[in-house]
Amino acid sequence: MRTHYIADAAKLDDGAEVTVAGWLHEVRDLKKICFVVLRDKTGKIQVTAKNGITSPESLENLRQPKETVVSVSGKIARGKGANAGIELLADKVEVLGRVYGKVPFDITEKDKIPSLDVRLDNRHIDLRRDEIQAIFRVRGTVQQAFREYLLENGFEEIVPTAIVGAATEGGAELFPIVYFEKEAFLAQSPQLYKQMAVVGGMDKIFMQCLVYRAEPHSTTTHLNEAYQMDIEMGFANDDDVMDVEEAVLIHILRAVAERRKHELEVLNSHVTVPDKVPRYTYSKIIEMLQADGEKIEWGDDFTRAHEEKIGKLVGQEAYFITKWPTKVRAFYSMPSPDNPEICNSFDLIYRGLEISSGAQRIHDPELLTQQIRARGMNPENFEFYIRAFRSGAPPHAGWSIGAERITMKICNLNNIREATLYPRDRMRLTP
Ligand code: ATP
Ligand code: MG
Repeated sequence: MRTHYIADAAKLDDGAEVTVAGWLHEVRDLKKICFVVLRDKTGKIQVTAKNGITSPESLENLRQPKETVVSVSGKIARGKGANAGIELLADKVEVLGRVYGKVPFDITEKDKIPSLDVRLDNRHIDLRRDEIQAIFRVRGTVQQAFREYLLENGFEEIVPTAIVGAATEGGAELFPIVYFEKEAFLAQSPQLYKQMAVVGGMDKIFMQCLVYRAEPHSTTTHLNEAYQMDIEMGFANDDDVMDVEEAVLIHILRAVAERRKHELEVLNSHVTVPDKVPRYTYSKIIEMLQADGEKIEWGDDFTRAHEEKIGKLVGQEAYFITKWPTKVRAFYSMPSPDNPEICNSFDLIYRGLEISSGAQRIHDPELLTQQIRARGMNPENFEFYIRAFRSGAPPHAGWSIGAERITMKICNLNNIREATLYPRDRMRLTP
């Protein structure tokens, strides 16, 4: 239905014949002549139609409400002089998709863009805005760069299950589903399954998957359905997988900075690519916060306000917090051999927000059983998992990056809902 995207058509010589297609962005109708701005995903072009060049029927097809979908065939006309524009002189215009009634909001009226809620109810309109498409192009590049780096470095992709029979990380935050005669849940994370794949000998694996968390609170950094980018690695500890995560983060930031210059500009974000991602122990961070007058004790988890403060104290956009207190981390985190109060786990913070967590995992079935019991959970519910460690399990470690969290921070967004097409939260189930 088109010979060129608009951006490519606009590069052609004067007189070139093209067919472009898209949405009517602006329409200025002056009786004998009609100027419209036509928009597709690559850009906009002025289309001029007038009596004599354009047939009456085609002229009528251009005199349509904004957001009507049309195709225009005609000749490129390049004006003379440095500031002269490019236009398309229309021979033939066809209407491909009409507007019925009123378009929910006008994307060209920048100061009248409605609230996020109304925008999300009308995502098909919202997505027509440059800055919204920019977000999803950045997110696509983030996900591609993640996969790219890992494939180039000996990791293999797996697909874990999203339906589980037991609560993977404690019971309260799961969505129950009806599964024939049984009770089942949507998976909160691929955690147990990726570990079992490593125990099975796959050794270096990665995956991207939707995860479901029935957290009833509403915050600007949580969704009830989120997309995780995970790895798991055999014969590795926390330091080894932090090395991989550092390289993955640098590769992602470089890919976005180099391939999404235009989108970052539209979003008003500047991405700097670090050469290193420094590591600070949890204990060190607590000391720094206390020295700065914060009321926080060893053993407390950090609040969002702490995370922002820590960023300023360490003076870095991206850094790891390592060696956390065992009691605030997931039960499968490996306690440190010299001090079981501390475990081999870590978070990655970027622009003041946790974007990833990881750890060396427990691969000893006895210790695992003890830790499950210590959290008040029943090891019998985890028998399918614990038994995987009784038949020869290597030491292993891994991490998980939240795709919406990293996209949100790279794009300078205030609300995580902006970084997912159809967010699922406490209130929102449609569209
Ligand atoms: P938080 O403490 O911020 O609630 P978490 O520690 O519970 O997150 P993890 O289990 O560590 O989350 O999940 C791994 C990563 O997945 C997080 O670092 C984050 O990037 C992302 N993530 C976790 N929960 C959510 C959520 N509800 N919505 C969006 N992303 C999430
Ligand atoms: Mg975490």
